[in-house]
Amino acid sequence: MDRVARIRFDDGVFLMPAYGADAADMALAEAESYARRYGHVTAEVSGRRLFVRQVGTGGACARCAEATRVLFATGHSGGLCGPCARELIHLG
Ligand SMILES: [Zn+2]
Repeated sequence: MDRVARIRFDDGVFLMPAYGADAADMALAEAESYARRYGHVTAEVSGRRLFVRQVGTGGACARCAEATRVLFATGHSGGLCGPCARELIHLG
């Protein structure tokens, strides 16, 4: 497992430790707040790359259909809400 999470945004990259599930959750929460600030970021957490983007009020999770303002997408899935993205990371 990759022990460093990377959040890439327009102005640079933010690195944080990602030891274990709790830290991976924190990294995803951090990615979400960067996406709110920058519109979109790329997060590399636990060996997965997620495209995180702010979608405003029209967003809905492809898995649980919850309304969400920030979507997490992998290469092959539709956009996921934060809780579903955390589940995906934990399964990986
Ligand atoms: Zn969901």
